[in-house]
Formats: sequence, C-alpha cells, structure tokens
Amino acid sequence: MTSSTDFYLADRLLTDEARALRDRARDFAETHVRPVAREAWEQGEFPRELVPRLGEIGIAGGLVDAHGEAITCYEAALAYTKRREQFGNPLASFQLVQAKLVEMLEGITTTQLLLIQLGRLRDSGEMTPGMSALAKRHATAMARSAAATARELLGGHGILQDNEVMRHLCDLEGVYTYEGTFAINTLIVGREITGIGAFA
Ligand SMILES: Cc1cc2nc3c(=O)[nH]c(=O)nc-3n(C[C@H](O)[C@H](O)[C@H](O)COP(=O)(O)OP(=O)(O)OC[C@H]3O[C@@H](n4cnc5c(N)ncnc54)[C@H](O)[C@@H]3O)c2cc1C
Repeated sequence: MTSSTDFYLADRLLTDEARALRDRARDFAETHVRPVAREAWEQGEFPRELVPRLGEIGIAGGLVDAHGEAITCYEAALAYTKRREQFGNPLASFQLVQAKLVEMLEGITTTQLLLIQLGRLRDSGEMTPGMSALAKRHATAMARSAAATARELLGGHGILQDNEVMRHLCDLEGVYTYEGTFAINTLIVGREITGIGAFA
C-alpha cells in the first residue's frame, strides 16, 4: 500500500525483494517496537530483546531509523494541524503552516529517492565512501530538521512526552552525531570530489 509520504510513488522503484523487506520492517516496528518504545525511552533502557529479532529479519541502520522518524514526525504534524483550530480555522489552512509541511515532505521525498539509489549502488558494489557520506549527511540533517519543524507545528503539545515527536527529536540528535557527524561526512564528500583531504 502506498504511504502518505510516498509522494513520487517510489514504491514502484522497489524490487519485490526490497518491498518484502520494507513490509517486514514496518510490521516489526508496529508489532515489537512501538508497544515498548515509550517506556524504554522514559526509563533510558534499550530493549535488548529486540536485537536478535532485528537480526532475524535482516535489518539495521541509522539512516533507515532517521528516515522513519522523519516520516512519523511529518505524519504527526499533518494530523495535528488538520485537527487543531486557531483563529477559527484549522492550522493546516494557514500558508505559513503549509509551507512547513511542504518543506518536511520535500526533505522526506528527496531522501527516500536518494536512499533507494544508494541501496542499489551498494548492492552492485559501486557505492563509494562519498556516496554513503552524502546520504548520511542529507538524511540525518533532514530528519533532525523535520523533527524540529514538527515539534514547532505541534506548539506546546510538541513538548509533551505523551507525544512521539519530542522523543524522535531527542533520538535524532544522537543519530545526527553517531552516523559520523555532519561535519565529517561533509569532509568525506569534499575529499572525494576535490581529491584533497581537509580534515586537518
Ligand atoms: C547515541 C550515540 C550512539 C553511538 N554509538 C556508537 C557505536 O555504536 N559505535 C561507535 O563506534 N561509536 C558510537 N558513537 C560515537 C560516535 O561515533 C561519535 O560520537 C562521533 O563519531 C563523533 O565523535 P566524538 O563524539 O568523539 O566527537 P568529537 O570528535 O569530539 O567532535 C566534536 C565535533 O567536532 C566536529 N569535528 C571533528 N573534527 C572536525 C574537523 N576536522 N573539522 C570540522 N569539524 C570537526 C565533529 O563533527 C563534532 O561535531 C555513538 C554516539 C552517540 C551520540
């Protein structure tokens, strides 16, 4: 089924194998992760029992996490702004709000297309460190920005712990760093396109 964030019908670009993996990952997240995520986050403990199960379905990776978190934040912001009325109208009817929603969808969509191609290049053995670093740089910055925008669009509700957005925003701060950091990924791409390392 096409999701609300598949704006360019990227589902059609996937092979049957990739689509099956995507569906297994979604099912895993809904069945095993979502029910325990909030409690684990509040207690500051990682649900270790999920690790072997993740291994069984053959999926892991910060970029996938970041992208999924951006989508969750976008969907929460879209639902909230359509539901919430201020000044006699839904928030989603205001131009400034629509501009923010469009920016989030734009970031999610460009990342989605980029990651599909990156995966293909990896499978064919043609992925370079620069290609990987550029995707990490883009995906983590986009997700971090989307979560912050969603937090803003939810107003005070975006701060509350009973809402997922603030949790994703906190998680994405970690992802932004542990994927190699924005600065270092930039330097890896810079070295590949110029032939000059600018690390020191
Ligand atoms: C939640 C989380 C989970 C992690 N999990 C793992 C893990 O499983 N395995 C693992 O090995 N590591 C893990 N890490 C560590 C992570 O890889 C490092 O935090 C990351 O690589 C940055 O290193 P650092 O923290 O030592 O930052 P520092 O090296 O102290 O850098 C600080 C800042 O300076 C910037 N900087 C550094 N050098 C330059 C330069 N030449 N030019 C411009 N800016 C520069 C960096 O980009 C960064 O923003 C994790 C980190 C976090 C936050």
